[in-house]
Amino acid sequence: VNTGTKPDISREKSAELYEKAKNYFPGGVNSPVRAFKSVYGTPLFIQKGDGCYVWDADGNQFIDFCASWGPLILGHNHPKVREKVTEVMQNGMSFGAPTALENELAELIIKNNRFVEKIRFTSSGTEAVMSAIRLARGYTGKDKILKFEGCYHGHSDSLLVKAGSGLVTFGETSSKGVPKSFAEETIVIPLNDEHAITAAFAQFKDQIAAVIIEGIPANNGLLMQEKSFVKFLEQTCKDNSALLIFDEVITGFRIGFEGAAAYYDVKPDIVTYGKIIGGGLPVGMYGASAEIMGHISPDGGVYQAGTLSGNPVAMAAGIAQLTELLRNGFYKELNAKTKEFAESIQRFASARSYKLKVFHVGSIFWFAFTDKDKIQTAEDIDVASMDKFKQFHRELLNRGIYIGPSGYEVGFVSAAHTKIELEKAKRAILDALDIVF
Ligand code: PLP
Repeated sequence: VNTGTKPDISREKSAELYEKAKNYFPGGVNSPVRAFKSVYGTPLFIQKGDGCYVWDADGNQFIDFCASWGPLILGHNHPKVREKVTEVMQNGMSFGAPTALENELAELIIKNNRFVEKIRFTSSGTEAVMSAIRLARGYTGKDKILKFEGCYHGHSDSLLVKAGSGLVTFGETSSKGVPKSFAEETIVIPLNDEHAITAAFAQFKDQIAAVIIEGIPANNGLLMQEKSFVKFLEQTCKDNSALLIFDEVITGFRIGFEGAAAYYDVKPDIVTYGKIIGGGLPVGMYGASAEIMGHISPDGGVYQAGTLSGNPVAMAAGIAQLTELLRNGFYKELNAKTKEFAESIQRFASARSYKLKVFHVGSIFWFAFTDKDKIQTAEDIDVASMDKFKQFHRELLNRGIYIGPSGYEVGFVSAAHTKIELEKAKRAILDALDIVF
């Protein structure tokens, strides 16, 4: 058992930058979880990323498992992505007009993904999901949306109800500022509960436009759903003429090129993607059958637009990244690497009777300080265990490992994590666990 804690890393420069940032931004940040509110110390200001490493303003180096919250499946600053972006940038940054690059990225997606026939690019996941909801309402002529407790679908009004890590980290489940009348159109039920679905459809008969679920819920811990549950959801939507929206902003192109829909073998009516398709630049997207997408303006009456939608530089990054993902064996290797990483940590923790479960799927993992074998709903998460996470996070930073600063957040392995770095990270994680327990 490792008995010594490591000295805290220096955060002098980060602290200085943070003090300055607090003058400009609420909480000193442009997205709340970045503020390190539920972990130790001042937020780290990142200066540089390369491969699986990031460096902060004080020069500390970390093996990064946050990956900008998921987009960087090839790691930071991948040469192919950088080269393509640099090449395209020479021609200008934005035109607000169609470009061939949009066609190129769309073709890569549509030709290799059986779940979308037509798509629309947006600039963020939030926009993609918000637009998908509007499309479902416009298409069905119904108003209510059914969502699941703990699933996060971006920060649009009707979806910020019981919505995952960002809110839970700050002790809230829903956002202030969402009109009651909007929230009333959102029905929230627990995950993995078939009876709750049946009851909701009975209570709100003919009023539910769509059910939205994260492909695999990964914003409030990693809440693996039973395949039978997802299949039941699919069938119930069909029986009630409600659309099934799979929000694959995290899981899309992460679990595999066709995301969680392929993993569960279901066919959602609308799918939303983001993160990975932008290669690290701001892109989101929603797609469906040609028939459903025909309802979007200018062909149909559901309006949606964007000044920077389909931005050429972002398209270039997406094209370069997705091209790499389509290489033979890409996901097989990445997922096998992640499985071995997660399971070897689990073996160690179990051998020492530490109360830790390392849940994982594809190249996503989540450290849960619990002895439960399954955590499938938001309710299953032990809030008190987050104190352990806080200590764990500090010990990891002190050992050169960077993971998201909240115990509700998942980690991501990228293709840039070689066996050497994963072994190094594993050793550091095991040492940290010895300290925490
Ligand atoms: N949907 C899911 C499942 C997400 O994980 C996220 C972001 O984490 C979003 C939507 C919102 O995407 P963005 O942050 O790009 O607006």
